[in-house]
Amino acid sequence: MSSPASQATLSGTPVVPGIQVGPAVWPAPRPVADTDAPEVEEGEREAEVARYEAAAETVTRRLKERSEVADGVAAEVLAATAGLATDRGLRKAVTSRIGKGTPADVAVAEATEEFAQMFKQVGGVMAERVTDLKDLRDRVIAEVQGAEEPGIPTPDEPSVLLADDLAPADTAGLDVERVIALATELGGPTSHTAIIARQMGLPCVVAVDGLGDIASGTMVLVDGTGGTVEIEPDMDEAQRRVREARQAQEAVDSWTGPCATSDGHAVGLLANVQDSGAAERAAESVAEGIGLFRTELCFLEQDTEPTVDEQAAIYSGVLAAFPDDAKVVVRTLDAGSDKPLKFAGLPDEPNPSLGVRGLRIAEAEPDLLLHQLDGIKAAAERTGTSPWVMAPMVGTVEEARGFAEKVRERGLTPGVMVEIPATALLAEQILAEVEFFSIGTNDLTQYVMAADRMSAELASLTDPWQPAVLQLVARTASAGTAAGKSVGVCGEAAADPLLAVVLVGLGIATLSAAPAALPAVGAKLGTVDLATCRAAAEAALVTTSPAEARAAVRDVLATAESPAA
Ligand code: PEP
Ligand code: MG
Repeated sequence: MSSPASQATLSGTPVVPGIQVGPAVWPAPRPVADTDAPEVEEGEREAEVARYEAAAETVTRRLKERSEVADGVAAEVLAATAGLATDRGLRKAVTSRIGKGTPADVAVAEATEEFAQMFKQVGGVMAERVTDLKDLRDRVIAEVQGAEEPGIPTPDEPSVLLADDLAPADTAGLDVERVIALATELGGPTSHTAIIARQMGLPCVVAVDGLGDIASGTMVLVDGTGGTVEIEPDMDEAQRRVREARQAQEAVDSWTGPCATSDGHAVGLLANVQDSGAAERAAESVAEGIGLFRTELCFLEQDTEPTVDEQAAIYSGVLAAFPDDAKVVVRTLDAGSDKPLKFAGLPDEPNPSLGVRGLRIAEAEPDLLLHQLDGIKAAAERTGTSPWVMAPMVGTVEEARGFAEKVRERGLTPGVMVEIPATALLAEQILAEVEFFSIGTNDLTQYVMAADRMSAELASLTDPWQPAVLQLVARTASAGTAAGKSVGVCGEAAADPLLAVVLVGLGIATLSAAPAALPAVGAKLGTVDLATCRAAAEAALVTTSPAEARAAVRDVLATAESPAA
């Protein structure tokens, strides 16, 4: 590793807020298969297979043991990696190579590569498992070679863990007393690193370019809110920022709503839910209602279309969770792409995220949509509520018109999601057909940037702070303001407190996210007035990169806090 320029600041994608400073530590190096080793003699191949089997068993056992003592998501991802270790196809790919004379470590490396390629081709969630697969490979190779288990050291003092990317088996064993923040060179907001860092509350930045140049022992500050890693910061200043971040966290912990800017401009804070259990938990949180009920997630395991009655029962559970007058937005089935539904008659397509998904399914299967709307109507009648109903993946005026007609026929309020650049570009015309918009920034970003939202490699592109995304959000929001219709945001962007300031400044009326993310958003908005939100939005809109946009907004907020400075 070359020595980095001191006091440099590297930029990445912020995934868990908070600030920490400490010496950098890197995980132990990964073992390398010895590709120059001679072929295994025929008479020794059986023993070589046994050596591999024993190594695979040991690794599986260790992963299972760790999953039993871990909690929540960490336990699930460890169990899933242990599951990969026992995958028959993978084991067969290894043993058949050994059977032909390939040494066990090389056979593991080759078979893993074959499976990794396969996972990448499938894309989406499977592609995200490639890190797990490679982690498994390294553990088995180390075991076969009799080397130390690769992974994270246990530092003597509170340290910042740096890595290319972390596998669940690494992160699940983290001692949060000793590892106080994380930064990785790869990984996206949905990678395992991010999921587990979130669960452990460790400030975390992913996709940090140039991280590999930081030597172990270098003092680094991780700003999980701003998305930066600062090398050899001024320590007095760093400690002050750590203290301030801790105080900000305390303010978040004690925030109870309702959500408004410091000068009283109300902002609706809503929850994203997937079933009645989540809706009931959301009702216990600071959420005032539901901004996105992802109905397709209720049916992922179902082989056949649920009846209207079955659907009505499920939707009623969600509608009943909040008081009758609370806002609840039900999204019709967003099947396809990353959310396959067995009964949706999805065609086999090479590029499903650009294929038949969301509302487009209704073209070939109109009854699916009509039955679902009947189910929502019945649920609304049963619960005495008036839900808003929106369609995902609407790209034309005609689609919006057709959907709105069917929704209105049932006495419900129609809206559409803004997830396709075309929808934002034609915001005025499409909004004329419906009563509200909800911007799905996850897909909108994916389609604006032509970057798969599940891709770890493209995380810096799939960032809703990309100025091109902000421009489309701005355009959509002003169409709402001009028409006097509500425009909300229900993608992950709504969970980012700093971005929430920009969104409110752009005219966004409601923010919908996982309930756990809402107090930080509400607490932040309570510290700024509407004029500052507008100034922040204006500043963000004239930048040319996410890092510049974040910095511009932070500057506006800092100036607003101390105008004399
Ligand atoms: C989005 O795309 O931002 C969104 C909220 O929908 P989903 O994440 O379910 O695709
Ligand atoms: Mg979407």
